[in-house]
Amino acid sequence: MSYVVVGAGIVGLSVARALLLSRPGSAVTVLDKEPTVAAHQTGHNSGVVHAGLYYPPGSLKAVLCRRGVGLLEEYTADKGIPYQKLGKLLVALDRDEESRLLGIRERALANGVPDIRMLGPDGLRAIEPHATGRAALHSPHTAVVDFPRVARSLAEDITALGGQVLLGRTVRAINQSAGAVRVSTGAEHVVADQAVLCGGLHADRLARLAGGAPGPRIVPFRGEYYRLTPQRASLVRGLIYPVPDPRYPFLGVHLTRRHDGSVDVGPNALLALAREGYRHRDVDLRDLRESLAWPGLWQLGRRHWRTGARELAGSVVKRRFVAAARAYVPELDPADLRRAPAGVRAQALDRDGALVDDFRIETVDRVVAVRNAPSPAATSALAIAEHVVGRMLTGRI
Ligand SMILES: Cc1cc2nc3c(=O)[nH]c(=O)nc-3n(C[C@H](O)[C@H](O)[C@H](O)COP(=O)(O)OP(=O)(O)OC[C@H]3O[C@@H](n4cnc5c(N)ncnc54)[C@H](O)[C@@H]3O)c2cc1C
Repeated sequence: MSYVVVGAGIVGLSVARALLLSRPGSAVTVLDKEPTVAAHQTGHNSGVVHAGLYYPPGSLKAVLCRRGVGLLEEYTADKGIPYQKLGKLLVALDRDEESRLLGIRERALANGVPDIRMLGPDGLRAIEPHATGRAALHSPHTAVVDFPRVARSLAEDITALGGQVLLGRTVRAINQSAGAVRVSTGAEHVVADQAVLCGGLHADRLARLAGGAPGPRIVPFRGEYYRLTPQRASLVRGLIYPVPDPRYPFLGVHLTRRHDGSVDVGPNALLALAREGYRHRDVDLRDLRESLAWPGLWQLGRRHWRTGARELAGSVVKRRFVAAARAYVPELDPADLRRAPAGVRAQALDRDGALVDDFRIETVDRVVAVRNAPSPAATSALAIAEHVVGRMLTGRI
C-alpha cells in the first residue's frame, strides 16, 4: 500500500509514523511546503501536555487527549526527550469562577484525569508561593515538553522506517481517480492509494482541493506572548491558568514555565489578518478576503465583538495585557516582561458562526482530511494518529 500525508506538523508526522508501524513495508511520503518540520502551530505553541481537564466527556478531545498523554510520555521516555511534570493550577478568582471550577473538576474526573484536587488560598500558595486566588484545581501530572523536538524525532522515525519527508513542497492539487489519489506540487506528483491531509492553518483549503465540503473554514487567531525576564522567572514554578470562559474556545492568558525554564505569559486571541500572520503588520489579502466572505465570521463577530475589543486593547497596551496576568501573580510588573514570539491558531468555524470545538475529521473517498485540530492536538497527536490509522486500516474511513 502507498500513502501520502500532507503537513509535517506533529499531527501529520504522527500519522505517517503510525502508518509505517501498522503497515510495515508500505510507501509513505510526507509533503510540507516549509523548509523545516514543525514550522507553524507545532513550533509556536505553549508546549503544555494537557491532562484533559476541560473537554466534554466522550468527545474526541477528551478521549484522544487522555490517550495521547500516555503515548507521549512513553514516546519521550523512549527517545530521551525531557518530559517535565510541572503541574498546573487552575485558579478561580471569585465565587462565580469557583462554581465553574467545580464543574471542570467533575469533567476532569469523568475524563479520568488522575490525582486532581481542590485547594484553598493556602494550598494554592504552597504550590505557587507568588500566586493568589480564592480556590484552585491542581493537576499534578500536567507537563511541558519541546513539541518541535518531538516532531523532529517523529520525522527521523519515518525515515528510519523507510518513509520519506519531503520539505519545500506546496501541495496545489489533489485528484482522485478510480484506483488512486494524485497529489501535485506543481511539476511533481505523488500517486498513492490513500492520502491524509493535516494542513493546520490550511486544513480547509486542502480538504476543498480534494473535493471536501466548503465548511468549516479556518479562521486564524494570533496569540501573543510576553516572556518574564530571567531574573523574575522564579515568580512562577509551574503552570498557572485562569478558569476558562465557557463561551470561548481559548483558555485565557496563562503563565507557563516552558521546557527550557523560561516563563511565558499569554496567549491572547486576536483575529489575524493572515493565516501565517505572526506579526501585527502581516496581511494576506487572499486570506482576508476568504475570511470575510465566510458568513460564519460575521455571526461570530456579532456574538463576540466585546471580547474581541478587549483582546485588541490588551494587544496594543502592554499594561492591560499584564493586568490579566497580575490577577494571578500580583507581584508582576510590566518591566518584568518582554515580547516573545507569537503563534497563530487554526480554528475551524462553521457557516452559522459556531466555533468547532471538537477535533473534526472528514473523509472524501480515498482522502482523509483533518479539518479541526486545535489545542490539545499537540498533546493528542499520537492518539489522533492511532485513531485515524486504525479507522483507515479497518475501512471505516
Ligand atoms: C499559540 C498556540 C498555543 C498552543 N498551545 C498548545 C499547548 O500548550 N498544548 C497543545 O497540546 N496544543 C497547543 N496548541 C495547539 C497545537 O499547537 C496544534 O493543535 C497542533 O500543533 C496542530 O498540529 P498540526 O500538525 O495539525 O498543524 P501544524 O503544526 O500547523 O502543521 C500543519 C503543516 O501543514 C503544512 N501545510 C499547510 N498547507 C500545505 C500545503 N498546501 N502544502 C504542503 N504543506 C502544507 C504547514 O506548512 C504546516 O507545517 C497551541 C497552538 C497555538 C497556535
